[in-house]
Amino acid sequence: MVSSFIVKNPATGESIQEVPRHTEEEINQALDKGHTGFKKWSKINAHERSRLLKKWSLLIQENKEEIAKVMTMENGKPLSESNGEVNYATSYIDWYAEEALRLYGRTIPAASEAKRIVVSKQPIGLVAAITPWNFPAAMMTRKAAPALAAGCSFIVKPAEETPLTTIRLVELAHEAGIPEDAIQCVNGRGSVVGRLFTESPHVRKITFTGSTPVGKSLIKDSAETIKHVTMELGGHAPLIVAEDADIDFAVAQTLLTKFRNAGQTCVCANRILVHENIVDTFSEKFAEATKQLKVGNGLDEATDVGPIINEKGYNKIVAQVNDAISKGAEVLVGNKYDADKEKGFFFVYPTVLKNVDGSMDIMQEETFGPVAPITSFKTLEEAVEIANNTPYGLAAYFFTNDYRTGTYLHDNLDFGIIGWNDGAPSAAHAPFGGMKESGLGREGGIEGIEPYLETKYLSIGNL
Ligand code: NAP
Repeated sequence: MVSSFIVKNPATGESIQEVPRHTEEEINQALDKGHTGFKKWSKINAHERSRLLKKWSLLIQENKEEIAKVMTMENGKPLSESNGEVNYATSYIDWYAEEALRLYGRTIPAASEAKRIVVSKQPIGLVAAITPWNFPAAMMTRKAAPALAAGCSFIVKPAEETPLTTIRLVELAHEAGIPEDAIQCVNGRGSVVGRLFTESPHVRKITFTGSTPVGKSLIKDSAETIKHVTMELGGHAPLIVAEDADIDFAVAQTLLTKFRNAGQTCVCANRILVHENIVDTFSEKFAEATKQLKVGNGLDEATDVGPIINEKGYNKIVAQVNDAISKGAEVLVGNKYDADKEKGFFFVYPTVLKNVDGSMDIMQEETFGPVAPITSFKTLEEAVEIANNTPYGLAAYFFTNDYRTGTYLHDNLDFGIIGWNDGAPSAAHAPFGGMKESGLGREGGIEGIEPYLETKYLSIGNL
């Protein structure tokens, strides 16, 4: 019997489309196809691969309106954010279309005149990707673009909440002329597809964006055949506002990083640490700005904050807020909900909590929702200690106009991405990724193509 799943609009609970799951046999066939595809795609010269990637990017841009609408319908994010994500997604294709031309090797002076040493790069093989629902376009192109640019073939499994955007992007890649066996999409349950990907001897690399527990199990399963792995996992970002910071600027940037995608981003500020001398002013201004945000269906142009993706995510947010309140947190705004379990939609109104402390779950766990917990600190040393006191190390933010404070915070925060007076540091040309349990490897920038390449060393003797 063919199994399928229904993609639903999280703003209304209404069905959008039924998507068949690929059977295990079909997924294994796709892996075989990807393996043969690699042999052909890797032989296409870098200039041609670059040209095809550029064409793919152009086609996505030509279909931007349609893709953004599909994304908003399946993910719930406001249409303006979906449009922004399509641009962000193509920026990775554009960047790696250029990097395809710069896969340099090198020569090394040999210790003997009778020898030459040459180092070259070659594509790693078939790459299997598993992506999450929160950025259905950008998380896919951030992996597909460097893989294809390097000469790898690519197969992706999107999250079952949001497969439609990915399916469309893969169709457009084929329309652009990238062969059907060079890039493929398969649909199925994560646990099943993950097993088939990790078991397959054809797959040489697993690249995953999602939760830390799933990332850990993929690393374990990849060990069996010694696959390369890139892991973009969970976060628990601190945002520090120093005593000298421009408070209005910090408020505006915190609003941006906290409530984008209804707080469902891995780099969202999750713990707001404000110097004790300005915490009241900051909290008041931030709560006032938060009150102005409009919650609703992402298709409505006035909407700033869309729905939570599903009931599980909603329950986690509500539990964290209740836990914080029961332990003494003060609600400055929010703690208001509009949810219908029968219909299947879950809205959380942007919430600001003050007097939060380390005993509360929200200070220990990723929230993935529009809740901003504020705590205060006396010294920078204390701020750094609180900030680093987590197994995560993805993104951190701080606001200060004092170069000594900024340098101290930069040097001492154990996070892979740091925004100094910047609430939106992500960019295709910069390395994105986490330390500690937030992941392994980097995506974006010149670092982002290296994991798709093998280094081959040739020693020529008897010259
Ligand atoms: P998730 O449960 O890990 O799901 C992500 C993907 O993994 C989905 O495609 C899912 O498929 C698949 N999956 C689930 N169980 C699996 C298994 N046992 N084996 C293989 N694949 C499996 O993550 P989520 O909770 O939906 O997504 C949010 C998480 O992603 C957060 O922790 C967030 O911080 C992280 N994230 C990180 C980054 C980053 O760059 N570091 C960016 C965005 C999000 P199904 O459709 O079957 O569930």
